[in-house]
Amino acid sequence: MDNLLRSPNFKFIEHDVIYPLAVEEPVDWVMHFASPASPPKYLSYPIETMRVNSEGTMHLLQLAKEKQAAFFLASTSEIYGNPTVHPQPESYFGNVNSIGSRSCYNEAKRYAEAITYWMNRKYGIPVRVIRIFNTFGPKMDLYDGRVITNFINQIMSKRNLTIYGDGRQTRSFQYIDDLLEGIIRLLGTTYEQPVNLGNPQEVTILEVAQVLKELMKSNAQIEFLPLPEDDPRRRKPDITVSRTIMDWEPAIGLHDALARTIHYYQGQYIH
Ligand code: UDP
Repeated sequence: MDNLLRSPNFKFIEHDVIYPLAVEEPVDWVMHFASPASPPKYLSYPIETMRVNSEGTMHLLQLAKEKQAAFFLASTSEIYGNPTVHPQPESYFGNVNSIGSRSCYNEAKRYAEAITYWMNRKYGIPVRVIRIFNTFGPKMDLYDGRVITNFINQIMSKRNLTIYGDGRQTRSFQYIDDLLEGIIRLLGTTYEQPVNLGNPQEVTILEVAQVLKELMKSNAQIEFLPLPEDDPRRRKPDITVSRTIMDWEPAIGLHDALARTIHYYQGQYIH
């Protein structure tokens, strides 16, 4: 990814994808990563989130069609909703509340997948679609609102750790470098079906709080707050497809990933 950004052909254009865009230069790949992914962020901008994933996806697909480029969609494990199948393979259709508060994100991403595959069927646009499971690492906004940055921020500022619900809900957290490696490998394949990219190491939110307290030598107290509406109870990727098609699996476990992330923030903020 770094090499790509340093290439002499790389040009940065700032554009709001809810409006159509015209690019003069030749284009090889149109890669759509434009969307908030943090629940408090997308709940603060619900209509914008839906537009970026619906109209935005359409405009970027139109650009890919016009430029005879390939299209890459960053989709999400949220399209599985509150899953009734565990772990979640790509073939699982999901369990989503179409009128719940999270629908501004998960239904919009489901639409983004649907339009991507229809543009692929109808016009032959080559597509790659990844479903990203919870991912974190250095350089995230500490006020992003997702669980790991919240906990690190709370420990660093000596506040209580906020756990929503009973903390026994699970997630499977992936380190950013593993995600990037998965993206790069997928670009080198011709595989057009959706691919889960996530770490199958499943943990409860209580366990995450405990590991962070140990790593940061903290005795922070835990404060239990209400569970947000439609918060998925369990989440864990089945990564058989990514193992098979591109020999990919995460190389960095949760403990190591958290240690690297803490190291980054402590270097940034504590001196
Ligand atoms: N969560 C929590 N405390 C926080 C932030 C999140 O207990 O300060 C919970 C949240 O309810 C969810 C899990 O941690 O069950 C992961 O939340 P996050 O917002 O990081 O991502 P999600 O997987 O929900 O998109």
